[in-house]
Amino acid sequence: MTTSEQLFARAVNVIPGGVNSPVRAFGSVGLTPRMIASADGAHMTDEDGNVYLDFVGSWGPMILGHNHPAVREAVIRACEEGLSFGAATKREVEMAELVCGNVPNIDMVRMVNSGTEAVMSAIRAARGYTGRDKIVKFMGCYHGHSDALLVQAGSGVMTAGIPDSAGVPKGCTLDTLSAIYNDEASVQRLFDEFPDEIAAVIVEPVGANMGVVPPKEGFLEALRAMCTKYNAVLIFDEVITGFRLSFGGAQEYYGVDADLVTYGKIIGAGMPVGAYGGKREIMENVAPLGPVYQAGTLSGNPVAMAAGLAQLTVLHEQPKLYDELNAKGDWFFGEVSKIAEKGKIPAMVNSCGSLGCLFFTDIAVTDYESAKTSDTEAFAAYFRYMLDHGVYLAPAQFEAMFLSVAHTREDLIGVLELMRAYFAGE
Ligand SMILES: *Cc1c(COP(=O)(O)O)cnc(C)c1O
Repeated sequence: MTTSEQLFARAVNVIPGGVNSPVRAFGSVGLTPRMIASADGAHMTDEDGNVYLDFVGSWGPMILGHNHPAVREAVIRACEEGLSFGAATKREVEMAELVCGNVPNIDMVRMVNSGTEAVMSAIRAARGYTGRDKIVKFMGCYHGHSDALLVQAGSGVMTAGIPDSAGVPKGCTLDTLSAIYNDEASVQRLFDEFPDEIAAVIVEPVGANMGVVPPKEGFLEALRAMCTKYNAVLIFDEVITGFRLSFGGAQEYYGVDADLVTYGKIIGAGMPVGAYGGKREIMENVAPLGPVYQAGTLSGNPVAMAAGLAQLTVLHEQPKLYDELNAKGDWFFGEVSKIAEKGKIPAMVNSCGSLGCLFFTDIAVTDYESAKTSDTEAFAAYFRYMLDHGVYLAPAQFEAMFLSVAHTREDLIGVLELMRAYFAGE
């Protein structure tokens, strides 16, 4: 038994499924998880000393690569000053100013501790602001594990084959309406039916929890127009795309304005941070300023803020990092696409900048239904081959591959050679 296997055998006794988040389980690829001991740059090392080129990047936060010196040093310095005060701090002000000053439409922002919390709070703010209850979400979009949003939620839920979660009372999802991604007519039908009852439309501006599904041209613009027309709040869930597609996230990348935006992942640089922000007239409803209650003992935690602020500062000061990262993604996923086209196994690629996904299907993936045509057994075989050859992919078909600043061209050329061999049936 490897050390990873020994640890996992202990883990399953004391942690449900042996993992603290289901997407980390290797069940759908027929393996047990590698226990990661450390990571640096684009690589992770497991407890047995195996080194992997990492395409998960902690599910997105590690856009600068693991263990980036600026982030590490900021955290160490912050630790020396104390771990938590439960009081207002200078770093929170600096963080909020950096976000509000450089992201479109963010007049005010509130820090929380995860993406789940950010979305839950943004929905409450939208409901409080509009005085309406219903929300529209898209099938295959994931917005965290809060009750109201765990409806056809893609990703982890998708792989497990659970349509919804047990333990969510029916009442909690009665006001959650589902629409089809990339199909604005499906949203229009909901507005036709409930013109004065929809508080918000929430969308992943690039679907990244059903594999990667970019928005069709005009889709986000259509959502913007409908929300304006029906006085509903447009929420971009930028937990993945925020500070990744560009510093201003999908709003800046696609030039479409949201009313509220949710963040997670990159904003904490690997520490547990989420945030929601947006138009002043909406955010002014949040307590203690307004009647929408939302709070957090550890929100804006000084160590977490130090990490996030250090990462965002590097990204903000070097905007060309985005040009380089997006160009690297376009090139790499373009090459993967060519390999998939020529290969003996049906596969196709979707990508957007540094996010990409290889779907084991031969039809174009534009929404949840088409994503589900993927052959998850074929994915599992491919995953095992890549892992055996030192490439750590997310252990499920419906997850993104995350590129970071730290992935070198040489790293990626090596991966392309592996893929070529695999798809040629070698
Ligand atoms: C990861 C994710 C979330 C949830 O964030 P957590 O920090 O895992 O709670 C919400 N929305 C999107 C789009 C995500 O990818």
